[in-house]
Amino acid sequence: MLILSLPPKQPLIIMNEDIIKLTHLTKRYGYGDTESFALKDFNLTIKRGEFIMIMGPSGCGKTTLLNIIGLLDRATSGEYLLNGESVANISARRQARLRAKKIGFIFQNFNLIEDLPILENVALPLVYVGYPRTVRLKSASNALSRFHLQEKEYYHPSQLSGGQQQRAAIARAIVADPEIILADEPTGNLDSRASSIVMEELKAIHAEGNTIIMVTHNPALTTYATRVINMLDGSIATDIKTVSDQNLPKSSTSKSKKRKKSPKTTKSAKTRRKK
Ligand code: ADP
Ligand code: MG
Repeated sequence: MLILSLPPKQPLIIMNEDIIKLTHLTKRYGYGDTESFALKDFNLTIKRGEFIMIMGPSGCGKTTLLNIIGLLDRATSGEYLLNGESVANISARRQARLRAKKIGFIFQNFNLIEDLPILENVALPLVYVGYPRTVRLKSASNALSRFHLQEKEYYHPSQLSGGQQQRAAIARAIVADPEIILADEPTGNLDSRASSIVMEELKAIHAEGNTIIMVTHNPALTTYATRVINMLDGSIATDIKTVSDQNLPKSSTSKSKKRKKSPKTTKSAKTRRKK
């Protein structure tokens, strides 16, 4: 019988796969006399579960790099593979959907919308994911409670401290359960206490198996990273892994399933459960 002829079970080694691969990436601004390069022959492979800190002087291309990885900007030349697929072949529409589902952004100045209460701010990414409003608000409320901001749901951004605003921004970044978190100097406007709280939250998000790419000017924060990259003039100057690939946190599929299930009232969630 076929079953008897199967070889003995091999131990299953699950390696963290390449989630992002950038090859010979270039970003050029201007032409001729005004030509300048924000990224020059930039090569970088990122495994799922890495926590990368990017450092380097102002103007060396850190924000440009995050914007390209986050599909907010396009490289002039070179290749960007996201989960093994070239983003050049992905339509603008699908890129927008990928961005909404797979990528969470955190900015130095929080980028919360002042006219909207915190709850509505955090719920915004779910509009693009297509959840109905009640589900969006419930998910946003859950995300805010994770960051101990549930009682501030109906406050507007300016009514919160900087640290609280950044925690709300992190709630917004993770509400759609993305795989990649991009953070551009997320602690740049915070005092050291608020900064540590934000870093501890990012550490917890990373421990769940998420990939984090964060720009910082603060060398003390690199203790949170599994890899530290120093950039200079649009290229990588140094690249040091402090945690080996085998020891990166694995994303448990049960985690993402659990979080995705939480909006209990959606039709799709119901049909999924029935299956
Ligand atoms: P960083 O985040 O490391 O400070 P940036 O990625 O913002 O650096 O910028 C990298 C380089 O690209 C800088 O020299 C900057 O002046 C230039 N640059 C960024 N955006 C533009 C733009 N829209 N037009 C022209 N030059 C730009
Ligand atoms: Mg920048």
